[in-house]
Amino acid sequence: APIVRFAPSPTGYLHIGGARTALFNWLYAKGRGGKMLLRIEDTDRERNNPEAVAAIVDGLKWLELNWDGDTVSQFGRAHRHRQVAEELLANGHAYKCWLTPAELDAMREKAQAEKQPLTIRSPWRERDPAEAPAGVPYVIRLKAPREGETVVDDQVQGRVVFQNKELDDLIILRSDGNPTYNLAVVVDDHDMQVTNIIRGVDHLTNAARQTQIYDAMGWEIPIFAHVPLIHGPDGAKLSKRHGALGIEAYKEMGYLPAALRNYLVRLGWSHGNDEIMSTSQMLDWFDTVDINRSAARFDFAKLEDLNGHYIRNTDDQELLNRIEDLLPYLPEGGRIVERLDANMRANWLNAMPGLKERAKTLVELVQASEFLFADRPLALDDKAQKLLDAEGRQRLADLLPKLEAANRWKAAELEEIVRTYAEAAGAKLGKVAQPLRAALTGKAVSPPVFDVMAVLGRDEALARIKDQAA
Ligand code: GLU
Repeated sequence: APIVRFAPSPTGYLHIGGARTALFNWLYAKGRGGKMLLRIEDTDRERNNPEAVAAIVDGLKWLELNWDGDTVSQFGRAHRHRQVAEELLANGHAYKCWLTPAELDAMREKAQAEKQPLTIRSPWRERDPAEAPAGVPYVIRLKAPREGETVVDDQVQGRVVFQNKELDDLIILRSDGNPTYNLAVVVDDHDMQVTNIIRGVDHLTNAARQTQIYDAMGWEIPIFAHVPLIHGPDGAKLSKRHGALGIEAYKEMGYLPAALRNYLVRLGWSHGNDEIMSTSQMLDWFDTVDINRSAARFDFAKLEDLNGHYIRNTDDQELLNRIEDLLPYLPEGGRIVERLDANMRANWLNAMPGLKERAKTLVELVQASEFLFADRPLALDDKAQKLLDAEGRQRLADLLPKLEAANRWKAAELEEIVRTYAEAAGAKLGKVAQPLRAALTGKAVSPPVFDVMAVLGRDEALARIKDQAA
């Protein structure tokens, strides 16, 4: 069974591209009875940010992408990376290099003058280390092959060929004794017994360097799948406005994790024409060989539609639980949390079937629920104000005694009363229902008005109507 890993660098939060990489890894492994490991690539101490580690862990948990075993810190394995560098030195696949900044500058200038890319050629590859200047620090370089090709056989990108004469001898250990990134990745992936590496295509050149290290150590090379980037809807690099946000931003915008997973899996991968798929279908169907080679385009409108679908198909109680988790992040949330007692929860659950038909995000759902928590007399928005003109208020006054006489406070019965009244008065239903909606919710749009009345209950609904009646 495959072993994969998600290996984020904790320099920023878990952004949408990283989340998709994690999802692809997770689907590949879990769909085949394998494991997904989590490794934090925190060797760059200056750019390392502990808050980012927490955000990555929280983001994965929220997306319900569970990993196996303990989270590995790459920095914590530096001794092992040094050990492998020493081993490469001992078996002749690496050498100590005392190249000076002046020598490097000279190479750079020569390359510029000849308009050639800079390929560093260290004389220390052949020179006797006994000639080294005393007390001067050195780096360790890989003795990379000079002739032939390094081939990355990639499940997505195909057979990618690098000419060895264009690759310089990679530094594997810095002069301060710290491993470089490519060495650390190879050693960790080998030690963690990773079989498949699924990551962004921006690491394709690294795959060539890493292949050279695997070869030098005589280690088996994992199967690579380099996934194309995510672009904005205009085809340009993904910007913040177009979705390049941390996962927590999607949570706070009111997306459901299942909807986001479904959206992300379709970014660069498809299964026939299927747009909506359950997680178990994704697990059955996903394969890295079916990932597209061209960049995927991020489309907020499509994500919203998908989210609306998931909201409509989520159980009312679960929606309420998710909403309660979300409330602390919303500007209007505090006020709602204060009022949310058992009674209000029951009202909200009763209103949920009407509310969830219309909402594309949980934030919209909460906004549409505000009428439940409004204080009397209700604050009216501009449109509600217009609906409650003299005529509208008179309608409410005429209707009120008929509603007060209702036997059962149920949507169907209330609708019957309002229809009968409108017909008798020779008014279109809207002429009655709209002022009613304005009085009950303070707005011109809401869930179906008879549901609103039923959910509010007889006393509260009648009181709100009385407040606005002429
Ligand atoms: N740490 C790298 C990144 O965040 C990923 C490296 C890898 O997957 O090999 O881009």
